[in-house]
Amino acid sequence: MENINWKEFGFGYTKTDYNVRCNYRDGKWGELETSSSDQVNVHIAATGLHYGQQAFEGLKAFKGPDGKVRVFRIEENAKRLQSSSHGIMMAEMPIELFEEAVIKAIKLNERWIPPYESGASLYIRPVLFGNGPQVGVNPAPEYTFAVFVMPVGPYFKEGFKPTDYVIYREYDRAAPQGTGTIKVGGNYASSLRGGSRAHEEGYSAVLFLDAKEKKYIDECGPANFFGIKGNTYVTPKSNSILPSITNKSLCQIAEDMGMTVERRKVTVEELADFTEAGACGTAAVISPIRKIVDADKNVDYVYGDEAGKTSFKLYETLRGIQYGTVEDKYNWNTIIEF
Ligand SMILES: *Cc1c(COP(=O)(O)O)cnc(C)c1O
Repeated sequence: MENINWKEFGFGYTKTDYNVRCNYRDGKWGELETSSSDQVNVHIAATGLHYGQQAFEGLKAFKGPDGKVRVFRIEENAKRLQSSSHGIMMAEMPIELFEEAVIKAIKLNERWIPPYESGASLYIRPVLFGNGPQVGVNPAPEYTFAVFVMPVGPYFKEGFKPTDYVIYREYDRAAPQGTGTIKVGGNYASSLRGGSRAHEEGYSAVLFLDAKEKKYIDECGPANFFGIKGNTYVTPKSNSILPSITNKSLCQIAEDMGMTVERRKVTVEELADFTEAGACGTAAVISPIRKIVDADKNVDYVYGDEAGKTSFKLYETLRGIQYGTVEDKYNWNTIIEF
């Protein structure tokens, strides 16, 4: 692995050595299984295939300058997968079993964990879906869980550069009483049309509004939204956004930096009052926003070409905790013992 250019890995797909699986049958979870194949067996009548009974997670492991490998807030991901499972009536995986599977997948692929200096990390993708035959609309009798890992390069290859986002009122990613708060693939399917139009028109992503009134900011497709106003970190409260673990961590860091944190409804017009804005999630931690174009109203909310000071400080602190260079006060990291 000496000659690997870790910076080049993107979010496409990289096959690593092993993945870990576990099946739920006859009312119970089986043993963890290890595989070197990247194919899974899916029943032709699986509910995951037909009715979207599927949820996933995304988390990362980081190698620090001390050589230790840390996985960030694994228990939060385990709990969120349970909540997603509950939401679409899938078998819930015990927290310890989820953690054991993720840690096993990391350990089996030790040689794929990027070195600290590369700025890269190991992305971990757990997925769970209904995999028993069920043609009538009912929860599946059986479930398959699988977790694979792959190296991903640093998100910001050319520095922490802000990009542009767009508001289109003709697309929704999730309904107010629907599946917005759980991490299911169906939300992503419904975000593809708007997302791909945004890319074609030169934007990084769509900033979705609340589906009912189109008055409030929801989230940015695969990332939560936040704005900075003076010494205040503001992030939308809504019943159709996914509770981002990155956002939750940034709220804590902001509070520890002496900022006021507000989780409340944010109107579109309030975008004009922020001095900085960003999207946050595991992939990038923070993607600073240069401007938000309200395409339907022909209004631009401009934050500027340079990422704001506060966003950068939040970003640096969270990354530091993940790589073990900033004190992990809340025990967010699990250190992997090899
Ligand atoms: C996964 C996800 C996020 C980000 O969550 P993190 O836990 O911070 O990675 C934000 N929005 C949606 C819709 C997501 O699926």
